Amino acid sequence: MVQAITTPHQRLKDNISAFFIIAAIIFVTALAGILGRPLLFLAIFWPANAILLGLLLRFNSLKNIGGWLGAFAGFMIADLLTGNSFLVTLFLTIANMLNALVTLILIRLLKLHYKQYNKGLTFLYLFTISAFGGCLAAATFACLTVPHMPNTFMSMDRIWVDFGMWWTGEILNVIAFLPIILAIPDKTTIQNYYQDFQQKTFQFKTLLPFLGVILSVILTHFFIGPGAIMFPIAALVWAALSYNLFFVAIINCVICMLLYNALTSYYIEQSPNAYLATTLSVRIGLFMLALAPLTLAIISLNRQKLYHQILYLANHDGLTTTLNRRHFYEESEKTITEDADKKHLIQSVTILVLDLDHFKKINDQYGHVIGDYVLQEFSNQVRTQIRSDDLFGRLGGEEFAILFKNLSLEQSVQIAQRICNTVFTTPIHLEDHQTLNISVSIGLSYQTLPYCVPFQQLIKRADDALYLAKEKGRNQLCLEQDVHSPPKMFAP
Ligand code: GH3
Ligand code: MG
Ligand code: MG
Repeated sequence: MVQAITTPHQRLKDNISAFFIIAAIIFVTALAGILGRPLLFLAIFWPANAILLGLLLRFNSLKNIGGWLGAFAGFMIADLLTGNSFLVTLFLTIANMLNALVTLILIRLLKLHYKQYNKGLTFLYLFTISAFGGCLAAATFACLTVPHMPNTFMSMDRIWVDFGMWWTGEILNVIAFLPIILAIPDKTTIQNYYQDFQQKTFQFKTLLPFLGVILSVILTHFFIGPGAIMFPIAALVWAALSYNLFFVAIINCVICMLLYNALTSYYIEQSPNAYLATTLSVRIGLFMLALAPLTLAIISLNRQKLYHQILYLANHDGLTTTLNRRHFYEESEKTITEDADKKHLIQSVTILVLDLDHFKKINDQYGHVIGDYVLQEFSNQVRTQIRSDDLFGRLGGEEFAILFKNLSLEQSVQIAQRICNTVFTTPIHLEDHQTLNISVSIGLSYQTLPYCVPFQQLIKRADDALYLAKEKGRNQLCLEQDVHSPPKMFAP
C-alpha cells in the first residue's frame, strides 16, 4: 500500500487543528454535563468521555498528541471555570481521559477491527471492551484519587456508591453517545441521502416507527412502573429494522435519557432508602435495552447490503457489468407486458441485437485476456451512447442486446448508427502503445402501440436483421423486414 508522506510542517498543522477541534468539542460537552448536573433530568448526562472516544476512533486525523492535549485542555477549562479546585479538576480530567485511553489500548491489544464497527458483532465487542476496560478504569481511578484531594466532593465513606454510579454512568453514556459519533454519515452518504430524499415522494409510513417510539415514551408517563423500561422495545426494534444506524443511534440516545429520568424519579419516590440499588438497576437495564436495537440495526443493515450485492451479482454479467441474459429477458418482458398495460406510459419499443465482428480472430491473435478487455471496452463505449434507463444486456459471448422505450424509429436508427460509428472509430488502447480497432453489426426491430408481438418474437426479428447485417458485410445496421421492406442498410 502506498502511504502518503507527511512533512513535519504538515504534522504540526494536523496536531494544531486536532487540538482546537477536540478542545472545543470537549469544552462544550463537558460544560453541558456540568451545568446539567443540578437538574434531575440531566443527572446522568456526561457525553464528553464517550464523544472523545468516538472522535478518536472515527477520525484518524484527530488521533495525535494535539488531539489528546486538546481533550485535556477542554476538560480542565470547563471544570476550572465552574469552580472546582485545581487538584480535583486535574484528577477528574485524568479519570475522564482514561476511558478513551484504556479503551484504545485494549482495542489495539485485542486487535479489534473497530473501523468495521458496523459489521457483524464488532460493535458488541467494542462496547464490552469500553464497559469493562475504559469505563471501569475511569471509575476506579477517580474513586482511588479524588476522595483524597483537598476541597473534594467525593468521600471514602460512600466510595462504593460513587464507584457504582460513576462506572454505570460511564457505560450508559458510551452506549448513548458513542454510536452516534461512529455512525455520523460522511459527505458522500449525506449527498446520497439528499438525492434519495429529493427523488422519492415522501411516504407517511416511513415515519411510523419513529411515531411508535414517541408513543411508547408517552406511555411511560401514564403507566410508570416496573414494566415501563420495556415499553419502547417493540418500537425500537421496528425503528432498528427501518432506519439507518445514525438515526437509530440518535433515537436510542434520547430514549435512554428520557427513560432514565422517568424511571429514577419514580423509583426514588417509591423507595428513597434504596437509592443506589435502584439507580444502578435502572442504568444497567437501560444499557441492556439500548444495546438490542443497535446490534439489530447493524445486523439488519449488513443483511440488506449483502442482499443487494447478491441481487446485483445474480442479475449482472461479471465481466461487462451489463444485465445478464436472464435479467435482460425478464426486464424486457416486464417492460413490454406491464408497461403496455399502462398504455399512456409507453408508446414504442426498440430492440437492438449487437454482435462483435470477427471476435474469434481477436481472441486468436491477442489471447482471451485481451478478448475480455475488448468486451469491457465495447460495453463502455455503448454505454456512452445510450440513456441510463435503457436496458443493456449481454446475451452470451460477444452478443449483446439493448431495449429502448419511447423512441421513434428514426431516433432508434440514429442511436444504433451512432453506436456502430463509435465502436468502429474508437481505437482500443492496449499495452505497449498498441491499438486495436473493432466493429459491430446490429439488427434492429421496432414496435409501436398497440403491441401484438411478444418480446421473444421481437428479439428474434432483431436477430434475423443482425444475420442480414453480417451477410451484407458486417460493421453495419440492418432493420427487421417488417419495419421497412426490403430491409434498409446503414453502413458507417
Ligand atoms: P462474426 O463476425 O460472424 O460474429 O464472427 P465471430 O468470430 O465474432 O463469431 P464466432 O461466433 O465465430 O466467435 C465468437 C467468439 O467469441 C468465440 C468465443 O471464443 C469468443 N467468446 C465468447 N465469449 C467470450 C468471452 O467471455 N471472452 C472472450 N475473450 N471470448 C469469448
Ligand atoms: Mg461475432
Ligand atoms: Mg456471436
